[in-house]
Amino acid sequence: MRFSLLGSGSKGNAVYIEGGGSAILIDAGFSGKELEMRMQGIERSLAGVAGIFLTHEHDDHICGAGVVSRRYKIPLHANAGTLRGGERRLGRPHKVHEFATGDEILCGGLKVRSFPVSHDTLDPVGFIVSDGRHRLGYCTDTGKVTHLIERRLGGCEALIVEFNHNLDMLRNGPYPLPLQQRVRSVTGHLSNEQGAEALARLIADHLQVAVLAHLSETNNTPALARGAALAAVAEWGDTALVIAEQHRPLELIELRL
Ligand SMILES: [Zn+2]
Ligand SMILES: [Zn+2]
Repeated sequence: MRFSLLGSGSKGNAVYIEGGGSAILIDAGFSGKELEMRMQGIERSLAGVAGIFLTHEHDDHICGAGVVSRRYKIPLHANAGTLRGGERRLGRPHKVHEFATGDEILCGGLKVRSFPVSHDTLDPVGFIVSDGRHRLGYCTDTGKVTHLIERRLGGCEALIVEFNHNLDMLRNGPYPLPLQQRVRSVTGHLSNEQGAEALARLIADHLQVAVLAHLSETNNTPALARGAALAAVAEWGDTALVIAEQHRPLELIELRL
């Protein structure tokens, strides 16, 4: 399995994953043009993408999904809540496959299973993607890490976990109080400390790479996110620590056999 975060943060999110002879995107929160460029950046094309799986209807996750679905005839996969919440933005996609949260969906050689997260949208989810050899877990845009989330993320070879904000920067930053409260709430975003606590419980020998994602450009820095992860996890073993960026895609990461 190989994957890349094409970009991550409140200005846009998309993850490219290939394995088992197929490729998918999780979310498509950039314009069609921007997604095309970022795919070129990792030497891939949207023409090779067999499905787009949507986590929730916020614009930074779906704004390019409808356009790209029509342009490249890519089916969209989402639950009823996300489809309803994103109706206007998605327009009329090429094809829509509605799933129920928790269902396992086969997309070519990749198996994709959703799980509920805690966020202020109609039915937000994270995903586990498997190619039969490796499992990748994606979990951002959640205000807390529930037991179910932790159970689903356990056993993955690659984890993408939200490290949204540093609490002091959020408190002392420019966000008005109601917005601060929204970000910090159980249906908001994970702080560095929350992300790090989850990672500390999930770290294991089989975990090859942990990606810190959805960092706020206002209320966080890569150094603070990394510092929180390093402080919480005592034994990294062979696990690589990677920080996703907002403005450029990560080089493709390949999981070892
Ligand atoms: Zn988001
Ligand atoms: Zn969101």
